[in-house]
Amino acid sequence: MRTDEVKRMRILVAGGDGFCGWPTALHLSKRGHEVIIVDSLIRRKWDEELGTQSLTPIATLEERVAAWKELTGLEIPIRIGDLTNYEFVESVFREFEPDAIVHFGEQRSAPYSMIDREHAVFTQVNNVVGTLNILFAIKAVKLDCHLIKLGTMGEYGTPNIDVEEGYIRIRHKGREDVLPYPKQPFSFYHLSKVHDSHNIMFCCKAWGIRATDLNQGVVYGLWTPETRMDERLYNRIDYDGVFGTALNRFCIQAAVGHDLTVYGKGGQTRGFLDIRDTVQCIELAALHPAEPGEFRVFNQFTEQFSVLELAQRVQRVAAEMGLKVNIAHLPNPRVEKEQHYYNAVHTKLTDLGLKPHLLSDDLLRELIETAQRYRDRVDFKVIAPTATWR
Ligand code: NAD
Repeated sequence: MRTDEVKRMRILVAGGDGFCGWPTALHLSKRGHEVIIVDSLIRRKWDEELGTQSLTPIATLEERVAAWKELTGLEIPIRIGDLTNYEFVESVFREFEPDAIVHFGEQRSAPYSMIDREHAVFTQVNNVVGTLNILFAIKAVKLDCHLIKLGTMGEYGTPNIDVEEGYIRIRHKGREDVLPYPKQPFSFYHLSKVHDSHNIMFCCKAWGIRATDLNQGVVYGLWTPETRMDERLYNRIDYDGVFGTALNRFCIQAAVGHDLTVYGKGGQTRGFLDIRDTVQCIELAALHPAEPGEFRVFNQFTEQFSVLELAQRVQRVAAEMGLKVNIAHLPNPRVEKEQHYYNAVHTKLTDLGLKPHLLSDDLLRELIETAQRYRDRVDFKVIAPTATWR
């Protein structure tokens, strides 16, 4: 298939108002797919709860899709509702009958899930029940619908052997089998993703559902060709100690003259990818669906970095821009290894045609410049990590 001859699909984007979901919905719509967004808008309420906001000003979801229609003529219907409400989920499935559902609609912050008992319980109920409802709606309405589920590389933890893509061949007492790769998640949030993976794998076996679990690395960047078209299409970007992720957070800290907050030694190594590759990977997964009954796992990242390596790189680029930035090693609020072996396989999406955007100084410079433009929106009080694992 030529890339300009894309099969047109009906794709439901759950969590389509969020950091990954919004640019994905626009990308899929631009590529000719029929897209519908489902979101409860709860992410915007967590900003209120935490007293923070996206660095970039973001339009309401209604304004976003109206602007998209005005600029491109393309329509993205939206349905506001909670995935933990089964009647709502089933009604959207009956109305839209998707070929694929991309499921971003979860609470995705590890620190948020570690605030206290209520936040841990909320995260697991929100994520596990939402995913179960989607599985039951697929079974009730359209068994052929391909579930593309966002998981996380954090499901695997940091074992002292290579991390495989979902499965590992094991020889034990003279017998051999291919088994799910062991999971050693870091937080109640990451645990919720493991519970999801198990539920999905079971439903694939029991009901013949087709599913792809995308164990995504940490996403950095902000702009995609679509989100930069107009201010009303701008994506959110978080810098606070709860939702801000390494790299994006460092660039914003560098721009406003805050120390780069490395937790502990900074030897924590993870997989990372550009937001432009997130949207690309989702479309590749949709265009090449799993088989009925197949529970497929892809490791969705393009490069590995340690947290300290990233802080040093941001520090260097900032210095070239005339900004003097310090790296602060804060006491680590998390329970995790700060120096460890890490090597994770990530070939399956490349095999499907992923053309990665590798981390460049130009991208870091642009992120820092964006943050300088919106520096008045940064509140220093919300930058330090608050939730602790102990
Ligand atoms: P986000 O918080 O920006 O977006 C999530 C969206 O889902 C929000 O718009 C929120 O309102 C919605 N949502 C949450 N619970 C819902 C519910 N019960 N019903 C309806 N809508 C609901 O998060 P993100 O950064 O875009 O992440 C999207 C997905 O990708 C998550 O599942 C996350 O675990 C995964 N992921 C993200 C990253 C990253 O670096 N951002 C890394 C790995 C995996």
